[in-house]
Amino acid sequence: MKVTEHLAKGECPQVSFEILPPLKGKSIESIYDHLDPLMDFKPAFINVTYHRSEQMFRKRTDGTFEKVDIRKRPGTVGICAAIMNHYKVDAVPHLICGGFSREETENALIDLNFLGIDNVLVLRGDAPANESFFEPDPNGHRYAVDLLCQVVRMNQGIYLEQDMQGGVKTSFCIGVAGYPEKHFEAPNMETDLGHLKNKVERGADYITTQMFFDNRRYFEFVEKCRKMGIQVPIIPGLKPITTKKQLTVLPHIFHVDIPEVLSAEILACKSDKEVEIVGKEWLIAQSRELKQAGVPGLHYYTLGKPSVICEAVRQIL
Ligand code: FAD
Repeated sequence: MKVTEHLAKGECPQVSFEILPPLKGKSIESIYDHLDPLMDFKPAFINVTYHRSEQMFRKRTDGTFEKVDIRKRPGTVGICAAIMNHYKVDAVPHLICGGFSREETENALIDLNFLGIDNVLVLRGDAPANESFFEPDPNGHRYAVDLLCQVVRMNQGIYLEQDMQGGVKTSFCIGVAGYPEKHFEAPNMETDLGHLKNKVERGADYITTQMFFDNRRYFEFVEKCRKMGIQVPIIPGLKPITTKKQLTVLPHIFHVDIPEVLSAEILACKSDKEVEIVGKEWLIAQSRELKQAGVPGLHYYTLGKPSVICEAVRQIL
């Protein structure tokens, strides 16, 4: 079932979760252990992130080094299929431009269609850890909108081989990312929103936001989107802070602000156990306010601490 069909049920709020594939070498059981407690809340869908490979240097026996591509968290498509099979819940694989040629993207979409997966969240992805700027694969896409257009074309039965006739029309529901605090590379909010609008006009069915810790950022973002004519559902993305270190790590990685009241409370904590309590209470307050405002869904980034999210969601549903 498509994400938009879940949202159209109008149950406020639909809960969904995002998980990361485990590090290479771990079993699918680690995913089930992570998800089992979250399934009590009957999530509408589960997102599974995609991680591009990273270039590393491996030492040869003669002492010289060779550059190798290593994917630390493979398995997105397989995990989605396993989740759908194991829990009978919809899975939303993330697809990224980075490290993919158009052919590889097409093949991944064919796999997803054969597996009965109805949804994709299309993203650009970031530059690899050792590079400053995002560079697409020589035969890949530079922006999420280009990847989105490939999915839209496949939904129309148009494949890369132009002379191919009668290709099956897929029916992917397509999500894209939105940034209540602006994407870090965009020169300003208006330009960023223009690019978001372009993604919607080209066929995005809904938007999932980057995490934010101040609901006003989300409300203002939605208002600006609506004024620009972006009418698709905008699902807020939420994450609890559970360690003091995250006060610097989250702004660094995700380019988000942490409100002064929250950071002061966290800094006053004597241990990360206390931080967990503060982070959980903040998440509950954020979720309650968003629920009251009638948001289409509540999407939780579960990386690391599903137990905190369980305790929070239990209190707001
Ligand atoms: P885009 O929409 O392509 O935008 C990137 C930048 O380019 C923006 O500054 C935008 O304003 C600008 N831009 C867009 N279109 C154009 C254009 N036509 N011309 C000029 N400029 C343009 N990353 C992963 O690697 N794997 C994941 O699984 C993953 N999941 C995510 C899930 C969510 C909900 C979110 C919010 C982010 C996720 N990310 C993931 C991170 C994401 O890949 C990065 O934030 C990335 O830097 C931008 O991706 P995007 O899809 O928003 O890119």
